Amino acid sequence: MNEADVSAKDYVQSVYETVVKRNPHEQEFHQAVKEILESLVPVISKHPKYIEHGILERIVEPERLITFRVPWVDDQGKVQVNRGFRVQFNSVIGPYKGGLRFHPSVNASIIKFLGFEQTFKNSLTGQPIGGGKGGSDFDPKGKSDGEIMRFTQSFMTELSKYIGPDTDVPAGDIGVGAREIGFMFGQYRRLRGGHEAGVLTGKGIGYGGSLARTEATGYGAVYFVNEMLQAEGLSFEGSTVVVSGSGNVAIYAIQKATQLGAKVVACSDSNGYVYDEKGINLDTVRRLKEEQRARISEYVKEHPHAVYVEGCEKIWTIPCDIALPCATQNEIDVNSAKLLVENGVKAVGEGANMPTTLDGIDVFLSNKVLFGPAKAANAGGVAVSALEMSQNSMRYSWHFHEVDDKLHTIMKNIYRNSVQAAEEYGYPGNLVVGANIAGFIKVADAMIAQGVI
Ligand code: GLU
Repeated sequence: MNEADVSAKDYVQSVYETVVKRNPHEQEFHQAVKEILESLVPVISKHPKYIEHGILERIVEPERLITFRVPWVDDQGKVQVNRGFRVQFNSVIGPYKGGLRFHPSVNASIIKFLGFEQTFKNSLTGQPIGGGKGGSDFDPKGKSDGEIMRFTQSFMTELSKYIGPDTDVPAGDIGVGAREIGFMFGQYRRLRGGHEAGVLTGKGIGYGGSLARTEATGYGAVYFVNEMLQAEGLSFEGSTVVVSGSGNVAIYAIQKATQLGAKVVACSDSNGYVYDEKGINLDTVRRLKEEQRARISEYVKEHPHAVYVEGCEKIWTIPCDIALPCATQNEIDVNSAKLLVENGVKAVGEGANMPTTLDGIDVFLSNKVLFGPAKAANAGGVAVSALEMSQNSMRYSWHFHEVDDKLHTIMKNIYRNSVQAAEEYGYPGNLVVGANIAGFIKVADAMIAQGVI
Protein backbone atom coordinates (compact mmCIF):
# COMPACT_ATOMS: atom_id res chain seq x y z
CA MET A 1 0.00 0.00 0.00
CA ASN A 2 1.45 3.40 -0.94
CA GLU A 3 1.24 6.61 1.09
CA ALA A 4 -1.84 7.93 -0.72
CA ASP A 5 -3.66 4.63 -0.08
CA VAL A 6 -2.83 4.81 3.62
CA SER A 7 -4.11 8.37 4.01
CA ALA A 8 -7.23 7.57 1.91
CA LYS A 9 -7.88 4.63 4.22
CA ASP A 10 -7.48 6.82 7.31
CA TYR A 11 -9.77 9.46 5.84
CA VAL A 12 -12.45 6.90 4.99
CA GLN A 13 -12.16 5.40 8.48
CA SER A 14 -12.56 8.81 10.13
CA VAL A 15 -15.68 9.56 8.05
CA TYR A 16 -17.08 6.16 9.01
CA GLU A 17 -16.41 6.81 12.71
CA THR A 18 -18.27 10.11 12.50
CA VAL A 19 -21.25 8.34 10.93
CA VAL A 20 -21.30 5.77 13.76
CA LYS A 21 -21.07 8.51 16.37
CA ARG A 22 -23.67 10.74 14.79
CA ASN A 23 -26.13 7.89 14.13
CA PRO A 24 -25.86 5.69 17.23
CA HIS A 25 -27.46 2.22 17.20
CA GLU A 26 -28.29 2.42 13.47
CA GLN A 27 -26.64 -0.87 12.53
CA GLU A 28 -28.12 -1.21 9.02
CA PHE A 29 -27.13 2.34 8.11
CA HIS A 30 -23.60 1.77 9.42
CA GLN A 31 -23.38 -1.44 7.36
CA ALA A 32 -24.42 0.24 4.11
CA VAL A 33 -22.03 3.16 4.69
CA LYS A 34 -19.13 0.84 5.57
CA GLU A 35 -19.57 -1.22 2.42
CA ILE A 36 -19.52 1.83 0.18
CA LEU A 37 -16.78 3.78 1.95
CA GLU A 38 -14.38 0.83 1.95
CA SER A 39 -14.89 0.43 -1.81
CA LEU A 40 -13.97 4.06 -2.35
CA VAL A 41 -10.43 3.92 -0.91
CA PRO A 42 -8.76 3.51 -4.35
CA VAL A 43 -10.83 6.39 -5.79
CA ILE A 44 -10.01 8.74 -2.92
CA SER A 45 -6.38 7.76 -3.15
CA LYS A 46 -6.23 8.54 -6.88
CA HIS A 47 -8.35 11.71 -6.75
CA PRO A 48 -7.65 13.87 -3.67
CA LYS A 49 -10.24 16.37 -4.99
CA TYR A 50 -12.90 14.29 -3.26
CA ILE A 51 -11.17 14.94 0.07
CA GLU A 52 -10.63 18.64 -0.69
CA HIS A 53 -14.34 19.13 -1.46
CA GLY A 54 -15.47 17.19 1.62
CA ILE A 55 -17.46 14.84 -0.58
CA LEU A 56 -17.56 11.87 1.77
CA GLU A 57 -18.56 13.96 4.80
CA ARG A 58 -21.40 15.44 2.76
CA ILE A 59 -22.53 12.30 0.93
CA VAL A 60 -23.12 10.30 4.16
CA GLU A 61 -25.36 12.99 5.65
CA PRO A 62 -28.92 13.02 4.27
CA GLU A 63 -30.06 16.39 2.94
CA ARG A 64 -33.16 15.93 5.08
CA LEU A 65 -34.91 13.30 7.22
CA ILE A 66 -38.60 13.86 7.79
CA THR A 67 -40.54 11.90 10.42
CA PHE A 68 -44.19 12.33 11.12
CA ARG A 69 -47.21 10.97 13.00
CA VAL A 70 -49.65 8.82 11.02
CA PRO A 71 -52.93 8.49 12.94
CA TRP A 72 -55.71 6.27 11.54
CA VAL A 73 -58.81 4.42 12.72
CA ASP A 74 -58.97 0.61 12.49
CA ASP A 75 -62.02 -1.51 11.64
CA GLN A 76 -62.93 -1.74 15.35
CA GLY A 77 -63.05 2.05 15.59
CA LYS A 78 -59.84 2.17 17.61
CA VAL A 79 -57.31 4.95 17.00
CA GLN A 80 -53.91 3.67 15.84
CA VAL A 81 -50.70 5.64 15.49
CA ASN A 82 -47.72 4.78 13.29
CA ARG A 83 -44.59 6.66 12.42
CA GLY A 84 -43.95 7.87 8.87
CA PHE A 85 -40.53 8.60 7.35
CA ARG A 86 -39.06 10.14 4.24
CA VAL A 87 -35.34 10.54 3.82
CA GLN A 88 -34.29 12.94 1.06
CA PHE A 89 -30.73 11.78 0.77
CA ASN A 90 -29.18 13.37 -2.26
CA SER A 91 -30.71 15.48 -5.06
CA VAL A 92 -27.56 16.50 -6.91
CA ILE A 93 -28.37 14.60 -10.14
CA GLY A 94 -32.18 14.72 -10.05
CA PRO A 95 -35.31 14.74 -7.88
CA TYR A 96 -35.17 12.40 -4.88
CA LYS A 97 -36.39 9.01 -6.04
CA GLY A 98 -37.03 5.83 -4.11
CA GLY A 99 -39.70 3.60 -2.71
CA LEU A 100 -41.86 3.52 0.40
CA ARG A 101 -41.67 0.50 2.69
CA PHE A 102 -44.52 -0.48 5.03
CA HIS A 103 -43.17 -3.05 7.48
CA PRO A 104 -43.02 -3.24 11.30
CA SER A 105 -39.20 -3.27 11.17
CA VAL A 106 -39.05 0.20 9.58
CA ASN A 107 -37.10 2.79 11.59
CA ALA A 108 -34.63 5.60 10.87
CA SER A 109 -31.74 3.16 10.39
CA ILE A 110 -33.58 1.07 7.79
CA ILE A 111 -34.82 4.12 5.90
CA LYS A 112 -31.37 5.74 5.91
CA PHE A 113 -29.57 2.61 4.72
CA LEU A 114 -32.11 2.28 1.91
CA GLY A 115 -31.88 5.97 0.98
CA PHE A 116 -28.09 5.88 0.98
CA GLU A 117 -28.00 2.78 -1.24
CA GLN A 118 -30.63 4.33 -3.50
CA THR A 119 -28.41 7.36 -4.21
CA PHE A 120 -25.72 5.16 -5.77
CA LYS A 121 -28.15 2.75 -7.41
CA ASN A 122 -30.04 5.57 -9.10
CA SER A 123 -26.79 7.10 -10.31
CA LEU A 124 -25.77 3.73 -11.77
CA THR A 125 -28.94 3.57 -13.90
CA GLY A 126 -27.58 6.54 -15.89
CA GLN A 127 -30.87 8.40 -15.38
CA PRO A 128 -31.39 11.83 -13.78
CA ILE A 129 -32.69 10.67 -10.39
CA GLY A 130 -31.45 11.48 -6.89
CA GLY A 131 -31.73 9.23 -3.84
CA GLY A 132 -34.65 9.05 -1.40
CA LYS A 133 -36.62 6.48 0.55
CA GLY A 134 -39.49 6.38 2.98
CA GLY A 135 -42.12 4.32 4.67
CA SER A 136 -43.69 3.45 7.96
CA ASP A 137 -43.62 0.86 10.73
CA PHE A 138 -47.23 0.05 9.76
CA ASP A 139 -47.78 -3.70 9.32
CA PRO A 140 -50.04 -4.38 6.32
CA LYS A 141 -50.28 -8.10 7.19
CA GLY A 142 -53.90 -9.06 7.96
CA LYS A 143 -55.28 -5.54 7.43
CA SER A 144 -58.53 -5.03 5.51
CA ASP A 145 -58.68 -2.95 2.30
CA GLY A 146 -60.47 -0.25 4.29
CA GLU A 147 -57.71 -0.12 6.90
CA ILE A 148 -55.04 0.01 4.20
CA MET A 149 -56.87 2.88 2.52
CA ARG A 150 -57.33 4.90 5.69
CA PHE A 151 -53.72 4.40 6.70
CA THR A 152 -52.29 5.31 3.28
CA GLN A 153 -54.53 8.37 3.01
CA SER A 154 -53.34 9.61 6.40
CA PHE A 155 -49.72 8.85 5.44
CA MET A 156 -50.05 10.77 2.17
CA THR A 157 -51.80 13.74 3.80
CA GLU A 158 -48.53 14.49 5.58
CA LEU A 159 -46.08 13.20 2.93
CA SER A 160 -47.73 15.34 0.22
CA LYS A 161 -46.13 18.44 1.77
CA TYR A 162 -42.67 17.25 0.82
CA ILE A 163 -43.04 15.54 -2.58
CA GLY A 164 -43.80 16.49 -6.18
CA PRO A 165 -42.88 15.47 -9.74
CA ASP A 166 -39.80 17.74 -9.73
CA THR A 167 -38.81 17.40 -6.07
CA ASP A 168 -39.34 13.89 -4.76
CA VAL A 169 -41.01 10.92 -6.44
CA PRO A 170 -41.84 7.93 -4.19
CA ALA A 171 -42.79 4.45 -5.40
CA GLY A 172 -43.31 1.00 -3.87
CA ASP A 173 -41.07 -1.27 -1.83
CA ILE A 174 -41.88 -4.04 0.68
CA GLY A 175 -45.57 -3.80 1.67
CA VAL A 176 -46.34 -1.12 -0.92
CA GLY A 177 -47.69 -2.28 -4.28
CA ALA A 178 -50.26 -1.21 -6.86
CA ARG A 179 -53.11 -1.02 -4.31
CA GLU A 180 -51.23 1.28 -1.93
CA ILE A 181 -49.82 3.45 -4.74
CA GLY A 182 -53.37 3.82 -6.10
CA PHE A 183 -54.75 5.01 -2.75
CA MET A 184 -51.81 7.38 -2.24
CA PHE A 185 -52.07 8.81 -5.75
CA GLY A 186 -55.80 9.43 -5.21
CA GLN A 187 -55.18 11.26 -1.94
CA TYR A 188 -52.33 13.35 -3.37
CA ARG A 189 -54.46 14.34 -6.38
CA ARG A 190 -57.31 15.32 -4.09
CA LEU A 191 -55.06 17.42 -1.86
CA ARG A 192 -53.36 19.14 -4.80
CA GLY A 193 -56.48 19.59 -6.91
CA GLY A 194 -54.56 18.63 -10.06
CA HIS A 195 -53.33 15.62 -11.95
CA GLU A 196 -49.57 15.56 -11.37
CA ALA A 197 -48.98 12.10 -12.85
CA GLY A 198 -45.22 12.11 -12.22
CA VAL A 199 -45.48 12.40 -8.41
CA LEU A 200 -45.47 8.64 -7.83
CA THR A 201 -44.31 5.70 -9.91
CA GLY A 202 -45.62 2.17 -10.01
CA LYS A 203 -49.09 3.57 -10.78
CA GLY A 204 -51.83 1.52 -12.45
CA ILE A 205 -51.56 1.34 -16.23
CA GLY A 206 -54.92 3.11 -16.63
CA TYR A 207 -53.74 6.29 -14.88
CA GLY A 208 -50.16 6.96 -15.86
CA GLY A 209 -48.30 3.78 -14.94
CA SER A 210 -45.67 2.27 -17.21
CA LEU A 211 -45.92 -1.13 -18.82
CA ALA A 212 -43.17 -3.44 -17.52
CA ARG A 213 -42.75 -1.51 -14.24
CA THR A 214 -44.26 -4.40 -12.28
CA GLU A 215 -41.86 -6.87 -13.86
CA ALA A 216 -38.85 -4.56 -13.90
CA THR A 217 -36.97 -5.37 -10.68
CA GLY A 218 -37.22 -9.15 -11.07
CA TYR A 219 -36.54 -9.12 -14.82
CA GLY A 220 -33.70 -6.66 -14.36
CA ALA A 221 -32.02 -8.84 -11.71
CA VAL A 222 -32.14 -11.84 -14.04
CA TYR A 223 -30.82 -9.76 -16.99
CA PHE A 224 -27.95 -8.64 -14.78
CA VAL A 225 -27.09 -12.16 -13.59
CA ASN A 226 -27.31 -13.34 -17.19
CA GLU A 227 -24.58 -10.84 -18.10
CA MET A 228 -22.38 -12.17 -15.27
CA LEU A 229 -22.98 -15.76 -16.40
CA GLN A 230 -22.40 -15.09 -20.08
CA ALA A 231 -19.05 -13.45 -19.36
CA GLU A 232 -17.95 -16.81 -17.91
CA GLY A 233 -19.53 -18.90 -20.68
CA LEU A 234 -22.41 -19.96 -18.37
CA SER A 235 -26.19 -19.48 -18.65
CA PHE A 236 -29.52 -19.97 -16.89
CA GLU A 237 -30.36 -22.82 -19.27
CA GLY A 238 -30.58 -26.09 -17.31
CA SER A 239 -29.54 -24.47 -14.00
CA THR A 240 -31.19 -24.92 -10.60
CA VAL A 241 -32.20 -21.65 -8.98
CA VAL A 242 -33.36 -20.71 -5.49
CA VAL A 243 -35.28 -17.45 -5.15
CA SER A 244 -36.14 -16.16 -1.68
CA GLY A 245 -39.27 -14.07 -1.21
CA SER A 246 -42.57 -14.30 -3.07
CA GLY A 247 -43.34 -10.61 -3.58
CA ASN A 248 -43.07 -8.49 -6.66
CA VAL A 249 -39.31 -8.91 -7.11
CA ALA A 250 -39.28 -12.68 -6.53
CA ILE A 251 -42.29 -13.42 -8.76
CA TYR A 252 -40.82 -11.78 -11.84
CA ALA A 253 -37.32 -13.10 -11.16
CA ILE A 254 -38.84 -16.60 -11.11
CA GLN A 255 -40.73 -15.88 -14.32
CA LYS A 256 -37.72 -14.57 -16.26
CA ALA A 257 -35.29 -17.22 -14.95
CA THR A 258 -37.78 -19.91 -16.00
CA GLN A 259 -38.17 -18.31 -19.45
CA LEU A 260 -34.40 -18.50 -19.80
CA GLY A 261 -34.46 -22.26 -19.17
CA ALA A 262 -33.77 -22.47 -15.43
CA LYS A 263 -35.66 -24.57 -12.89
CA VAL A 264 -36.59 -22.50 -9.84
CA VAL A 265 -37.03 -24.98 -6.99
CA ALA A 266 -37.84 -22.76 -4.00
CA CYS A 267 -39.33 -19.49 -2.83
CA SER A 268 -40.39 -18.14 0.58
CA ASP A 269 -42.25 -15.61 2.67
CA SER A 270 -41.51 -14.29 6.15
CA ASN A 271 -42.91 -17.47 7.77
CA GLY A 272 -41.12 -20.19 5.79
CA TYR A 273 -40.20 -21.60 2.41
CA VAL A 274 -41.50 -24.12 -0.13
CA TYR A 275 -39.26 -26.56 -1.96
CA ASP A 276 -40.68 -28.02 -5.16
CA GLU A 277 -38.21 -30.29 -6.91
CA LYS A 278 -40.35 -30.24 -10.09
CA GLY A 279 -40.00 -26.46 -10.26
CA ILE A 280 -42.14 -23.83 -8.53
CA ASN A 281 -45.57 -23.37 -10.10
CA LEU A 282 -45.67 -19.61 -10.56
CA ASP A 283 -49.41 -19.44 -11.27
CA THR A 284 -50.06 -20.81 -7.79
CA VAL A 285 -47.60 -18.40 -6.15
CA ARG A 286 -49.10 -15.44 -7.99
CA ARG A 287 -52.65 -16.36 -7.07
CA LEU A 288 -51.72 -16.91 -3.41
CA LYS A 289 -49.67 -13.74 -3.10
CA GLU A 290 -51.15 -11.25 -5.57
CA GLU A 291 -54.85 -12.15 -5.26
CA GLN A 292 -55.49 -14.07 -2.04
CA ARG A 293 -52.74 -12.38 0.01
CA ALA A 294 -52.24 -15.80 1.61
CA ARG A 295 -49.17 -17.43 3.21
CA ILE A 296 -46.77 -19.44 1.03
CA SER A 297 -47.48 -22.52 3.23
CA GLU A 298 -50.76 -22.84 1.29
CA TYR A 299 -48.72 -23.86 -1.79
CA VAL A 300 -48.30 -27.46 -0.62
CA LYS A 301 -52.08 -27.95 -0.38
CA GLU A 302 -52.22 -27.64 -4.17
CA HIS A 303 -48.87 -29.33 -4.83
CA PRO A 304 -48.63 -32.11 -2.25
CA HIS A 305 -45.30 -33.37 -3.60
CA ALA A 306 -43.71 -30.05 -2.53
CA VAL A 307 -42.34 -29.49 0.97
CA TYR A 308 -43.04 -26.52 3.26
CA VAL A 309 -40.45 -25.68 5.91
CA GLU A 310 -41.14 -23.23 8.74
CA GLY A 311 -38.47 -20.49 9.06
CA CYS A 312 -37.21 -18.80 5.91
CA GLU A 313 -33.42 -18.65 6.50
CA LYS A 314 -33.06 -22.42 5.88
CA ILE A 315 -33.90 -21.83 2.23
CA TRP A 316 -30.15 -21.35 1.65
CA THR A 317 -29.48 -24.97 2.64
CA ILE A 318 -30.99 -26.05 -0.70
CA PRO A 319 -28.25 -26.85 -3.25
CA CYS A 320 -28.46 -24.58 -6.30
CA ASP A 321 -26.38 -23.15 -9.17
CA ILE A 322 -27.80 -19.65 -8.84
CA ALA A 323 -29.18 -17.92 -5.72
CA LEU A 324 -31.42 -14.88 -6.05
CA PRO A 325 -32.14 -13.37 -2.61
CA CYS A 326 -35.28 -11.30 -3.26
CA ALA A 327 -36.76 -11.04 0.27
CA THR A 328 -35.10 -8.52 2.61
CA GLN A 329 -31.90 -7.14 4.18
CA ASN A 330 -29.35 -9.46 5.80
CA GLU A 331 -31.16 -12.65 4.81
CA ILE A 332 -27.86 -14.35 3.81
CA ASP A 333 -25.45 -14.34 6.72
CA VAL A 334 -21.94 -15.76 6.79
CA ASN A 335 -23.16 -19.29 7.56
CA SER A 336 -25.74 -19.32 4.78
CA ALA A 337 -23.09 -17.98 2.39
CA LYS A 338 -20.68 -20.79 3.40
CA LEU A 339 -23.42 -23.39 2.89
CA LEU A 340 -24.25 -22.04 -0.55
CA VAL A 341 -20.56 -22.21 -1.49
CA GLU A 342 -20.21 -25.76 -0.14
CA ASN A 343 -23.25 -26.75 -2.20
CA GLY A 344 -21.63 -25.41 -5.36
CA VAL A 345 -23.40 -22.08 -6.01
CA LYS A 346 -21.93 -20.36 -9.08
CA ALA A 347 -23.71 -17.01 -9.02
CA VAL A 348 -25.62 -14.83 -6.56
CA GLY A 349 -27.76 -11.90 -7.71
CA GLU A 350 -29.25 -9.62 -5.08
CA GLY A 351 -32.88 -8.79 -5.95
CA ALA A 352 -33.59 -7.38 -2.47
CA ASN A 353 -31.74 -4.42 -0.92
CA MET A 354 -28.61 -5.45 1.03
CA PRO A 355 -29.70 -9.11 1.46
CA THR A 356 -26.14 -10.30 2.18
CA THR A 357 -24.20 -9.36 5.31
CA LEU A 358 -20.69 -7.92 4.86
CA ASP A 359 -18.99 -11.15 5.97
CA GLY A 360 -21.36 -13.12 3.72
CA ILE A 361 -20.20 -11.03 0.74
CA ASP A 362 -16.56 -11.77 1.68
CA VAL A 363 -17.32 -15.51 1.57
CA PHE A 364 -18.74 -15.24 -1.96
CA LEU A 365 -15.96 -13.03 -3.28
CA SER A 366 -13.12 -15.06 -1.77
CA ASN A 367 -14.61 -18.25 -3.24
CA LYS A 368 -14.89 -16.68 -6.71
CA VAL A 369 -18.69 -16.88 -6.77
CA LEU A 370 -20.09 -14.42 -9.33
CA PHE A 371 -21.73 -11.81 -7.12
CA GLY A 372 -24.16 -9.15 -8.36
CA PRO A 373 -24.65 -6.57 -5.56
CA ALA A 374 -28.11 -5.11 -4.97
CA LYS A 375 -27.48 -1.59 -6.11
CA ALA A 376 -26.53 -2.93 -9.55
CA ALA A 377 -28.61 -6.10 -9.82
CA ASN A 378 -31.90 -4.70 -8.52
CA ALA A 379 -31.66 -1.28 -10.19
CA GLY A 380 -34.14 -2.34 -12.89
CA GLY A 381 -37.15 -1.33 -10.77
CA VAL A 382 -36.12 2.23 -10.21
CA ALA A 383 -34.78 2.45 -13.78
CA VAL A 384 -38.24 1.72 -15.15
CA SER A 385 -39.69 4.12 -12.57
CA ALA A 386 -37.54 6.81 -14.21
CA LEU A 387 -38.92 5.68 -17.59
CA GLU A 388 -42.42 6.05 -16.10
CA MET A 389 -41.53 9.65 -15.14
CA SER A 390 -40.33 10.29 -18.71
CA GLN A 391 -43.58 8.94 -20.15
CA ASN A 392 -45.61 11.05 -17.70
CA SER A 393 -43.70 14.18 -18.74
CA MET A 394 -44.35 13.41 -22.41
CA ARG A 395 -47.99 12.46 -21.69
CA TYR A 396 -47.29 9.37 -23.72
CA SER A 397 -46.79 5.65 -23.15
CA TRP A 398 -44.46 3.13 -24.66
CA HIS A 399 -45.27 -0.48 -25.56
CA PHE A 400 -44.23 -3.27 -23.21
CA HIS A 401 -41.40 -4.40 -25.47
CA GLU A 402 -40.03 -0.85 -25.82
CA VAL A 403 -39.78 -0.47 -22.02
CA ASP A 404 -38.42 -4.00 -21.61
CA ASP A 405 -35.78 -3.37 -24.31
CA LYS A 406 -34.72 -0.15 -22.59
CA LEU A 407 -34.54 -2.00 -19.26
CA HIS A 408 -32.38 -4.69 -20.83
CA THR A 409 -30.00 -2.09 -22.25
CA ILE A 410 -29.81 -0.27 -18.90
CA MET A 411 -28.94 -3.51 -17.06
CA LYS A 412 -26.22 -4.31 -19.61
CA ASN A 413 -24.79 -0.80 -19.19
CA ILE A 414 -24.80 -1.09 -15.40
CA TYR A 415 -22.95 -4.39 -15.69
CA ARG A 416 -20.40 -2.99 -18.16
CA ASN A 417 -19.79 0.19 -16.15
CA SER A 418 -19.35 -1.78 -12.92
CA VAL A 419 -16.91 -4.21 -14.55
CA GLN A 420 -14.91 -1.31 -16.03
CA ALA A 421 -14.75 0.64 -12.77
CA ALA A 422 -13.63 -2.45 -10.85
CA GLU A 423 -10.87 -3.07 -13.38
CA GLU A 424 -9.75 0.56 -13.55
CA TYR A 425 -9.33 0.76 -9.77
CA GLY A 426 -7.54 -2.55 -9.35
CA TYR A 427 -10.32 -4.96 -8.30
CA PRO A 428 -11.05 -6.93 -11.50
CA GLY A 429 -14.24 -8.98 -11.28
CA ASN A 430 -15.35 -7.40 -7.99
CA LEU A 431 -18.74 -5.92 -8.84
CA VAL A 432 -19.32 -4.71 -5.27
CA VAL A 433 -16.39 -2.33 -5.60
CA GLY A 434 -17.17 -1.63 -9.28
CA ALA A 435 -20.82 -0.70 -8.73
CA ASN A 436 -20.01 1.47 -5.71
CA ILE A 437 -17.29 3.36 -7.57
CA ALA A 438 -19.28 3.83 -10.79
CA GLY A 439 -22.31 5.06 -8.81
CA PHE A 440 -20.20 7.33 -6.62
CA ILE A 441 -18.17 9.16 -9.28
CA LYS A 442 -21.18 10.64 -11.07
CA VAL A 443 -22.75 11.90 -7.84
CA ALA A 444 -19.45 13.16 -6.41
CA ASP A 445 -18.48 15.05 -9.59
CA ALA A 446 -21.92 16.70 -9.72
CA MET A 447 -21.49 17.72 -6.06
CA ILE A 448 -18.17 19.36 -6.86
CA ALA A 449 -19.66 21.13 -9.90
CA GLN A 450 -22.57 22.50 -7.84
CA GLY A 451 -20.51 23.82 -4.94
CA VAL A 452 -20.81 23.35 -1.19
CA ILE A 453 -24.57 23.07 -0.66
N1 GLU B 1 -38.09 0.23 -4.01
C1 GLU B 1 -37.40 0.02 -5.26
C2 GLU B 1 -35.90 0.07 -5.01
O1 GLU B 1 -35.44 -0.35 -3.98
C3 GLU B 1 -37.90 0.92 -6.37
C4 GLU B 1 -37.82 2.37 -6.11
C5 GLU B 1 -38.49 3.24 -7.18
O2 GLU B 1 -39.03 2.70 -8.15
O3 GLU B 1 -38.47 4.46 -7.00
O4 GLU B 1 -35.12 0.45 -5.84
